[in-house]
Order: sequence, then structure tokens, then C-alpha cells
Amino acid sequence: MAIASVNPATGETIRTFEALDDAAIDAALTRSVSAFHVNRSRSFRERASRMRRAAEILEERQKELGRLMTTEMGKPVKAAIAEAVKCATNCRYYAEHAESFLADEPVKTDAKETFIRYEPMGTILAVMPWNFPFWQVFRFAAPALMAGNVAVLKHASNVPQCALAIEEIFRDAGFTGYEFQTLLIGSDQVERVIADERIKAVTLTGSEPAGASVASIAAKHIKKAVLELGGSDPFIVMPSANLSEAVSTAVKARIVNNGQSCIAAKRFIVHESIADDFEKRFVAAMEALKVGDPLDESNDVGPLATPQIADDIEKQVRDSVAAGAALLTGGKRNGNYYSPTVLTRIPSSAPAAHEETFGPVASIFRVATINDAITIANDSPFGLGASVWTNDRAEMDRFIDGIETGQVFINAMVASDPRVPFGGTKHSGFGRELGVYGIREFVNVKTVWIAKTPQATATE
Ligand code: NAP
Repeated sequence: MAIASVNPATGETIRTFEALDDAAIDAALTRSVSAFHVNRSRSFRERASRMRRAAEILEERQKELGRLMTTEMGKPVKAAIAEAVKCATNCRYYAEHAESFLADEPVKTDAKETFIRYEPMGTILAVMPWNFPFWQVFRFAAPALMAGNVAVLKHASNVPQCALAIEEIFRDAGFTGYEFQTLLIGSDQVERVIADERIKAVTLTGSEPAGASVASIAAKHIKKAVLELGGSDPFIVMPSANLSEAVSTAVKARIVNNGQSCIAAKRFIVHESIADDFEKRFVAAMEALKVGDPLDESNDVGPLATPQIADDIEKQVRDSVAAGAALLTGGKRNGNYYSPTVLTRIPSSAPAAHEETFGPVASIFRVATINDAITIANDSPFGLGASVWTNDRAEMDRFIDGIETGQVFINAMVASDPRVPFGGTKHSGFGRELGVYGIREFVNVKTVWIAKTPQATATE
């Protein structure tokens, strides 16, 4: 894939870039090694003042960054601006908490002193997707840099200008020694970077095939990997739920980012006693959405990010209908725009039942019991998030225990928040970002044992 900014709303190629050659990659990795020595020797206070400045820059530049995201990948501009601001929140969160998250932890043993120390690892490679072109990068980079690591970013090939803008933000914030570098490279060059001795670990957010490939290369070179992959999140509505709130949140949760979010609700599992009502209101709300130019703030849904994504979603809907699903609304394509779509009576063989639908396509399933709801929720290769709507406390507990995902949100849509860990189970990946768990992914957990007397030194 060429490295190019192509506006998905118009098809216009804005800029193209040459991929770095081997010598340029080598030079960048050499710079990252010296940057690591600098960053790890800084105090938390010194790193935090730079991270806080990065937050201010994100806020100062929010409008221009928002427009940049929208022109490269098509998300509604208001959401793009909000994404820049959310990144600032994350920078401040880790500026404030990194020191306590990574403080030495005393452990009571029979030694004179025992504690756990968290040490940075070095240069971490981040392979990132285009769908939240700033947020995905910042939720990795802020904790990584605060822990004393340094980063090299291989961003998706369709958002090179976002990748360069992020590098500039960190540099302008005072990380002037190449602590964060963007490598404009193709996915075929990732193996060569992971194999390099100077790379200590890798994190990938993206699709299952990319994750499987990167994790196997990392394993071959005995390096740690974190994978944040796809999802087909269930959104379950039970009879005791507040139906109007459930419906309006269901629409938001499905069309967030033009439907291209790993944690977008994709499968709507509704109790049969309220299913007719839910379906009627949900379809009406999906039909009321305004689809159009993502730079026009009055529009709710913009184009899909690339023609390939539009081809994929069109095929999934066509094949699902051919397999017997009923199309309640939508199913129309115009260039990269795809109309908000609702499917129901979906047979288990249909793509909409078992594949991730990365666009504004909702699948409704009717269930008679809570057990059926949990069974359908878990009948997916993915295990990222789940949203459950009920006001019955006992039901809440059954769902919390029964659903196999990395996060369960009750009476709310699934969202990432710097304060709580984010990640998946099953084919949605492994490892966590955000919260205390996120910053501890890329550290050496060092046990320190100081014996009472030299003779009492512990053995294995
Ligand atoms: P993708 O095609 O896997 O691309 C993601 C990144 O991986 C890009 O930088 C891409 O580079 C690179 N890449 C692709 N194949 C590779 C390979 N074989 N080896 C090394 N690198 C490779 O995914 P996408 O279409 O951009 O993103 C959509 C997917 O990401 C969805 O499945 C979505 O659910 C998932 N996602 C997950 C999360 C999460 O937190 N769990 C968040 C957001 C998105 P090129 O662009 O150069 O191909």
C-alpha cells in the first residue's frame, strides 16, 4: 500500500510519501537509543512537565488537528476535535500518575528488604491503525514516555500526516531528543524493524491478520507484544432497561467514527418482549442520521476511510441478505459513503453474525432468556467489550460473570477512559492499555531482594 493522504470524502490525493529506506530506518533506531538514555535519566517531574506541555499543544492545535484527521480518514470533524482533546486528558493523566504507578513496591518476606522496581525497557515499536489516528497513538505513547521508554511509530499508510503531526507535538513539547519518532514505512518493513536488536517490544492495534503476523515475528525474536485487535461487541437490552436511553445510545454506539471502531456495538441482542418496540425506534433513529461531508458539523456520518472498507461492508451486507437476513433499512452505497443499515433475522452462517462489521451496519438478534443473551454474546471469535442494559441487579451480576470480554459496561456504551484498563480476550488480543496496567506493559518488573546477612542470601 502506498503511503498517501487521500481524502475519503472526495477521493482527492492530498500528499504522497516515499517509504524510508533501510539506512534511514537504521539512523532512526540509532537516534532512539540515545534518546532512551536521555529519557530514562530524567525524573518523573521532568517527563511530566513535557507531557503536560504536549497536552497544552494538543488543545491549542485541536481545530487544525481535527481537520487533518477528518481530511485523511473521514471522521466527523467534531469527533476529530474531541479526539485531540481526549489525547490531552490522557497526557495529563499519566503526567500526574506515572510516578505513583511505577514507584518501588515493598514486599514482606524474610529478607532484610524486598521490593519490586519497574524499569523502562528501551525503544518500543507501535504499529497503529487509522481509525482513531491520534487516540490510538497517544494512549500508548503517553504512558510509554512517562515510564522512561522511547517510541517509534509505524502508523497506517493512509494517515501519514497525522503521524508526522504527532511527532511534531512531542518534539514541540520538549521531547527534543527523538524520544518519539514516526517511521514512514510500509507493513512489509515491520519485520525488519522488530528483528532489530534496538527494538525491545512491540504493540499493535489493528486487525487479526496484522496482529498474528506481528506477534509471531516478535515471538521469533523473543520480544514482548501487546495486541489490541478487532471486536464484535454485543449490546444487550433487557425488559427492565430504560428503552429510550438504550435506543439513543445504541445508535451512537453503532455509528461512532462512521461505524469504524473496535468497540462500536455491532450485535444488538434484545429480549423478545421489547424487541418490536426497540427495532421500530432504532430503525427510525438510524434513518434520521445525516450522512454527508464530515467537515460539515451538522452531519452525523461521514464516508468510510477507504474504498476497500466500503467494498468489504457492502459485501458483508449482500452476503448476509443472501444467507437469509432481513434488511430493515440502509444497504446503499455512494462512493465511500454507506447508509446506516439495520439487519435482523440473521442466520448464524451470515457474515453479520460472526464477522466484525467495520461500518454503520447493525445486526439485531432476539432472545427469550438471559442465558440465550449470554450465549449469543459469547458466540463470537472476539471478546473486546459488551454493553448491557438492565435495571435488575441480579441480571447485571449474571452478565458481568457470564460475558467473555475485556470490559462490560452496564447502562452505558463501551468507551476507553485513561483511568481504567482497556483490552480484549479471545481474538481481540492480549495485554492492556490505559490505567495502571497500561503503563506496566512495557517495563521490566525487577525483583530486588536484600538478605539479612550475606549467608542468608536466597537461592531460587
Ligand atoms: P490493519 O490493516 O491491521 O492495520 C493496522 C496497522 O497494522 C497499520 O499500521 C498497518 O499498516 C499495519 N499492518 C497491516 N498488516 C500488517 C502486517 N502483516 N505486518 C505488519 N503490520 C501490518 O487494521 P486497520 O484496517 O487499519 O484497522 C482496523 C482494525 O483495527 C479493526 O479490526 C479494528 O477493530 C481494529 N482496532 C482495534 C482496536 C483495539 O483497541 N482493540 C482499536 C482500533 C482498531 P498499513 O496501513 O501500511 O497496511
